[in-house]
Amino acid sequence: MTVRLVVVGGGPAGTQAATWGARLGAEVTVVEKEVLGGAANLWDCIPSKAMIATGGLMALSRRSRHMGLQELTPELDFAALRVRNQEIEARLKGTIRAQLQSQGVRLLDGCGRLKGPHEVVAETSDGGVVELDADAILVCTGSRPRIPAFAAPDGERVLTTREAYPPPELPSHLCIVGSGVTGVEFTHMFSSFGCEVTLVVSRQQVLPGKDAEVAAALEDDFLARGVHLLKGARASGICRVGDGVVVECTDGRKVSGSHVLLCIGAIPNSDGLGLDAAGVEVDGAGYVPINHHGQTNVKHIYAAGDLSGKLPLASVAAMQGRKVAEHVMGLQVREHRHLDYDKAASAIFTEPEIADVGLAEADAFATGRKVRVTKVPFASTAKALIEGDTRGFVKIVSDPWTGAVLGGSIVGPSAAELISVLALAVTANLKVNDIVESLLVHPALSEALAEAAE
Ligand SMILES: Cc1cc2nc3c(=O)[nH]c(=O)nc-3n(C[C@H](O)[C@H](O)[C@H](O)COP(=O)(O)OP(=O)(O)OC[C@H]3O[C@@H](n4cnc5c(N)ncnc54)[C@H](O)[C@@H]3O)c2cc1C
Repeated sequence: MTVRLVVVGGGPAGTQAATWGARLGAEVTVVEKEVLGGAANLWDCIPSKAMIATGGLMALSRRSRHMGLQELTPELDFAALRVRNQEIEARLKGTIRAQLQSQGVRLLDGCGRLKGPHEVVAETSDGGVVELDADAILVCTGSRPRIPAFAAPDGERVLTTREAYPPPELPSHLCIVGSGVTGVEFTHMFSSFGCEVTLVVSRQQVLPGKDAEVAAALEDDFLARGVHLLKGARASGICRVGDGVVVECTDGRKVSGSHVLLCIGAIPNSDGLGLDAAGVEVDGAGYVPINHHGQTNVKHIYAAGDLSGKLPLASVAAMQGRKVAEHVMGLQVREHRHLDYDKAASAIFTEPEIADVGLAEADAFATGRKVRVTKVPFASTAKALIEGDTRGFVKIVSDPWTGAVLGGSIVGPSAAELISVLALAVTANLKVNDIVESLLVHPALSEALAEAAE
């Protein structure tokens, strides 16, 4: 009997589940209300990285004298930036749609909700209503920016990340509230564009919870390019004053700017999904708890991606979607492996770039686990000198007795790419010697990896 899988939400989790479900023989329907590819492609991962790439080129051109060139002074073209974002998004959306259609996945443009444990209703964008019977349902409707009670985004001067690709005008002084991954990426982006930026940091370091050495490397770079860090400052009010904004903090400090950008986390899109009609439990924060197969408390209803409250990363969402499809199709009894969230690699697209995977040195220290930590600066590689950027380092955390690679951090150019080596090592239980004995390219930044593994 053919398994009918209905997926509500067409972001990374939903499209991967659909792809793998169809490959494994399920009859798959995806209901997506906005854009295939999800918030990931429309607002989050892709436009932010596209704008960071533009800012990176601008920053590079400012350093061009060091590379034997006359200094270049590129001017930012906001309209062109907006068009470029739209083109990238359209291209990705087209590719995903074509891919799913070629696999026989039924695509419904519309808003989905559960009507009962085996029934999904889709209100389609052309005004129709489609009722879908399902043997298995995956809800993966993602999340949206959290807006605190003290702020009222207006799309002009008080912005969420969704209004920042790019904002209506280039801010002369942007105040960014929140110094997690999103906050620091936008700080990097807008300071590369040449804007004055003040980052409101609620603790004493940016990237709370991150390795202190890694956070310090980023703070150094921010300070070197004139970013103002307002530390230990918890925003409690935002108001528009004339042509600007004022951010007030709980300790009475105030900071004025031309615009403010809120980067204080996300809330799950679980409201209006009909989860109660299907008996699916939601936790106090609105997330849908799942077990290691992605099942909710109702065994044939799965959740994945940001909605599941696990690691909010597109890469994780996509892998969760794939694992759900495998479980729906009964693959868990054979080659299926559980997803290990502790082994997920992640990156922060700042300058220097930051990436890490697996066990962090600080976590090992906190739990009293004995580890070997080796660190090599990129400055010791020829490639960093050739590229004119010697910032950053590679740190590898390994087991002192077996040599197994347990984790690592990379700060520096191409960290998001280089971390793949350590991610593979952590996932495949490789040892430091496996990295040392790989015949790597010379000159390349990866030589720092081999050196750190010695
Ligand atoms: C600024 C920013 C930058 C980020 N950068 C990165 C990055 O570089 N790398 C990374 O890995 N992660 C990044 N993330 C996180 C990443 O975007 C999310 O983890 C990812 O999008 C989650 O995927 P998802 O499938 O759960 O949801 P989404 O991508 O949010 O997709 C959910 C989809 O469900 C649809 N939907 C919602 N309700 C319904 C409904 N009722 N019916 C039908 N459809 C519905 C939505 O329209 C949406 O298309 C970033 C996040 C932000 C905020």
